[in-house]
Amino acid sequence: MDQSRIASPEQVFAHLAAGNQRRRVSFGYAERRAALRALSEAITAREGEIIEALSTDFAKPEAEIRLTEILPVQAEISHTLRHLKRWMRVRRVYPTRAMLGTKARIIPEPKGTALIIAPWNYPVGLSLGPLVSALAAGCAVVLKPSELAPASAAVIADIVVEALPEDLVRVVQGGVEVSTQLLDQPFDHIFFTGSPRVGKIVMAAAAKHLASVTLELGGKSPVIVGPGADLKKAAKMIAWGKFANAGQTCIAPDHVFVAKQVEAPFLAELKAAIAKMYGKTEEAQQASRDLARIINPDHFARLTGMISEAEAQGARALTGGASETESRYIAPTVMMGTDPSMKLEQEEIFGPVLPVIPFTDADEVLTRIDAGPKPLALYIFERDRALIERLRRASTSGAVGINIALAHYLHPNLPFGGIGNSGLGAAHGHYGFLAFTHEKAALENRFAPLGMLMPPYRGARIAKLAQKFLR
Ligand code: NAD
Repeated sequence: MDQSRIASPEQVFAHLAAGNQRRRVSFGYAERRAALRALSEAITAREGEIIEALSTDFAKPEAEIRLTEILPVQAEISHTLRHLKRWMRVRRVYPTRAMLGTKARIIPEPKGTALIIAPWNYPVGLSLGPLVSALAAGCAVVLKPSELAPASAAVIADIVVEALPEDLVRVVQGGVEVSTQLLDQPFDHIFFTGSPRVGKIVMAAAAKHLASVTLELGGKSPVIVGPGADLKKAAKMIAWGKFANAGQTCIAPDHVFVAKQVEAPFLAELKAAIAKMYGKTEEAQQASRDLARIINPDHFARLTGMISEAEAQGARALTGGASETESRYIAPTVMMGTDPSMKLEQEEIFGPVLPVIPFTDADEVLTRIDAGPKPLALYIFERDRALIERLRRASTSGAVGINIALAHYLHPNLPFGGIGNSGLGAAHGHYGFLAFTHEKAALENRFAPLGMLMPPYRGARIAKLAQKFLR
């Protein structure tokens, strides 16, 4: 059912916001658990439809749908069910000397009505994942999936309609126009996942109502392969991280800096890892059912354009480089000889193309990374502990992966988010719950001797004593 036809974004917002006061009282622990359970069951019941939808949208392999879309949401639900009671607990905090005679508590309360705007690249996981956090926090939600993965967006709406009441969660379908109308509404929190470009639009819109925001953005996530890396393991991990979802992953390795002295053996391992995962020949790779396709003709043209621009300027494909327009197939491609004037080294690639750039001095790599926008993830492959620590401490990024790629996304006890251009705030587990929660400070007077500090002051004698003893 297309809920967007039922009402305008304005009406949907007003309808949900009208229930906030009642919800603060009635949407407690048991109700939130029930909502999460219902969501989990509806996802399980529609697993087949989810798989079909994602395979229609961009031929995402079934194993990847299960591992990177369904599993993370179900794991998020299980983790939340396990910890929600503790997260919701009102916490007492100790008084300081100046606060003797009072009782202080921190009360987690729902922010109110939240807007979740999702991208197309993990359409299910990045719509329903934040929804889990919002429901756990007790918020009402308007969810707008991406218009670029329409089959997935339709299943998401069906799941929500089946699992959750209409006065709690509404799915609104549409593109920029609908998104803009939604952003005009005075939401209490906006959770946006998408590009830094649109992130800025979202933050500007939120500023009009002083809504809080979580911005899960993207950018170029670099990899450093050090001279002491286990090259076979590094190559396997990088190939998987890059070519899963055909590289259309916010935390995919964008490009690799490899230490000059291990460049040749690393490239050999990388080529071998790609051949093992997707096939040895071009025909085998194109026939592989383990490689997703590019989401739409625009992104296909953007990516093939990046490859031809680089080739025209002297770069070459070590492996891959082939493409097929109709099915929007791009072979797993490793590019050598790129330089900073090329789009491949300037823009977030977001596709199955991996530039590998040799280096001799790790400090130069760090300076180069530092000169660009702060990455969402940075990956270090190395065995020398001292070098790992040096690279980690001298760099900044939303997350750092050491001898591992992508997997920090799956760890529910880690905050998932960016810094600067790659995002603001964090998702997952308790961090996701907190994104949709206002921690209300409650201070209650028992026998606080504050009267002594009120006028008439009779000079400043008591104030001076307070200054001395109450700090
Ligand atoms: P996008 O920014 O183009 O679109 C995201 C959402 O914003 C969609 O729902 C879209 O309808 C809406 N939107 C687009 N233009 C808008 C506008 N002008 N005003 C209001 N809303 C608008 O991003 P995308 O192409 O769907 O996703 C790819 C980007 O998302 C990449 O940069 C990627 O790195 C990033 N991403 C980040 C994460 C993360 O968790 N940090 C996860 C996935 C993707």
